[in-house]
Amino acid sequence: MAADVDEFRHEVRAFIAAHGHPMRGEGLRVPRDADEERAIRAWLAALYGAGYLGGGWPTRWGGRPDHHPLLDLVVMEELILGDAYRPLDQVMLASHAVLTYGTEAQKADLLPKIRSGEHVWCQLFSEPDAGSDLASLRTRAEPDGDGWRVTGQKIWSTDAQWADRGTLLARTDGTVDRHAGITAFVIPMDLPGIEVRPMREITGHEEFCEVFLDEVRVGPEHVLGELHGGWGVVTAGLASERAFVGANAIQLERMFADLVALARAVRLPDGTAAITHQDVQATLADALVRVEEVTLIVRDTVERILDDDEHPSDGPVAKLAYSELNVALTETALELLASAASVDDEAAALAARWHHNFLWGRALTISGGASEIMRGLVGRQLLGLPRA
Ligand SMILES: Cc1cc2nc3c(=O)[nH]c(=O)nc-3n(C[C@H](O)[C@H](O)[C@H](O)COP(=O)(O)OP(=O)(O)OC[C@H]3O[C@@H](n4cnc5c(N)ncnc54)[C@H](O)[C@@H]3O)c2cc1C
Repeated sequence: MAADVDEFRHEVRAFIAAHGHPMRGEGLRVPRDADEERAIRAWLAALYGAGYLGGGWPTRWGGRPDHHPLLDLVVMEELILGDAYRPLDQVMLASHAVLTYGTEAQKADLLPKIRSGEHVWCQLFSEPDAGSDLASLRTRAEPDGDGWRVTGQKIWSTDAQWADRGTLLARTDGTVDRHAGITAFVIPMDLPGIEVRPMREITGHEEFCEVFLDEVRVGPEHVLGELHGGWGVVTAGLASERAFVGANAIQLERMFADLVALARAVRLPDGTAAITHQDVQATLADALVRVEEVTLIVRDTVERILDDDEHPSDGPVAKLAYSELNVALTETALELLASAASVDDEAAALAARWHHNFLWGRALTISGGASEIMRGLVGRQLLGLPRA
């Protein structure tokens, strides 16, 4: 397998170098105009077409007959290393949900449009008062003829401003256990009654949206999975997010390389490069040790996922370790910049990236499960602590 994986890696790397749609500086992903949107959709289609995305799908829906999950990780790593536009988590999570829960008609309709880049998806789960405790969501779907009318508000919906489809969670039965009364729907984002309002983040960019639903009419063809079975769709989706954990090791190694580059580029008031100073070298050494520790944790987790030998706490441990170290590295970079007397062009470009990372890094300690929630899971699942 190792030789095959190496060969595959070279192939993907060459493909990205030849065709890759670059990430907009600072890793931003929401297109600025119609041309950029077309280019991103074409890039997603190219990745699916080459078998670099969706390789693990059943072959009748376009998967590779010789697929191994390790190859997904290689693709993700190469996209990071090549600074290429990364496929939307939402698209990949959505395809997992459709493949697992969709009817044949839904699969036939939706999967080819994911592959062709025609459909970008968003996830309409979180609400202003239902994030970590998602089961308390209040968006309701009231029966209306053979379908429902959906009313409520969603928030933090990444990419909703340009998504074509959304996976929506709504309460269809308020009389039963809160997990049991939720249904998942796949909805076109241009249905009457949907209003999408982008939100400006601390980074100055708009990647999330608020989504308001006012008596949005949905039919039985929009239900994903069993009626009232939406909680299963959520948990399956979260499990599939594990696929993204592995790429974090490369991300950390890249960040460390950027930190060293910054230390070389920054000039202190005496005119010397920061990297020549003992305290900066000590800081870099500490950072390297932490990066090594966390990449080991991440790679160990990946191995267990691939061997189907995963412990429930593996994902939370890796997520917690990665997202918290990510924040710590951005803080180190900003301290380094604070000591700078002057920056050349290279340092200025690095500084802009680190400023963005600093502001964005906290988001990663929230998305996919906030650090406090992860700590609770690790405490209970790994240490066997009682629920506080
Ligand atoms: C980058 C990013 C992308 C996102 N994309 C989407 C998306 O596309 N679609 C979507 O639906 N949602 C999305 N979200 C929302 C995300 O799922 C929620 O932000 C997350 O579930 C936390 O919910 P919350 O923001 O309501 O915070 P809360 O749940 O209100 O938490 C606030 C604080 O309280 C802490 N807290 C809460 N409960 C406990 C507890 N039991 N014990 C200890 N501490 C606790 C939390 O850790 C946190 O620090 C995204 C978020 C981010 C940051």
